[in-house]
Amino acid sequence: MKYQFYTIVFASLMTSCGVNHNITTEPVTTDENSIKANTVTKSENEQAPNNTAIPVSKIKPQPQFEPITKSQDSKKIVKTDAEWKAILTPAEYQILRQKGTERAFTGKFDKHYKEGTYTCKGCGTALFDSTTKYDSGCGWPAFFKAKENTIAETIDRSYGMIRTEITCKKCDGHLGHIFDDGPNPTGVRYCVNSASMGFIPADKDKQAKPAQKK
Ligand SMILES: [Zn+2]
Repeated sequence: MKYQFYTIVFASLMTSCGVNHNITTEPVTTDENSIKANTVTKSENEQAPNNTAIPVSKIKPQPQFEPITKSQDSKKIVKTDAEWKAILTPAEYQILRQKGTERAFTGKFDKHYKEGTYTCKGCGTALFDSTTKYDSGCGWPAFFKAKENTIAETIDRSYGMIRTEITCKKCDGHLGHIFDDGPNPTGVRYCVNSASMGFIPADKDKQAKPAQKK
């Protein structure tokens, strides 16, 4: 119960865009299962509530991450932690595999507006076209649209907030969060960590397709 109070206070200190992971306290819970909720598969009884409308005070004890979209792709990329560590930098690993967040305004793609395709850093899946990127001013790369059927959404109750986490459908890599304050025509903002993405410039994109590791 005490934790609940702290999480509410904590939530009120947060910005809408993300969480600064340099904060060392983990006020929400000490339950390991919810901290390492890496799996985005499972359970049929997930009638996910609307993510924005729930007052924090009404949160009942429940898993921090709860699937919204079903990921039934049988060709998932599954690797061990050691395998991920071998192909990702420490920062990429922390964000993609441990749901971290890079500091605002520090990512290499925050002010990057070249033509091309943004891919998943974990598996190479093409996620966003540069034509859907815009300057939201929030400090992270923002897109109003993702490529079809590439991103899974999950309710994220960490840090006493209710947000919608976005992950790569293929490798379950954490990308960031989606908010409903985006521009037309979609009205949504995919707020993505630069470290979660790679980039293929438009001219190269025509010659070679993104590498798809198995
Ligand atoms: Zn991926």
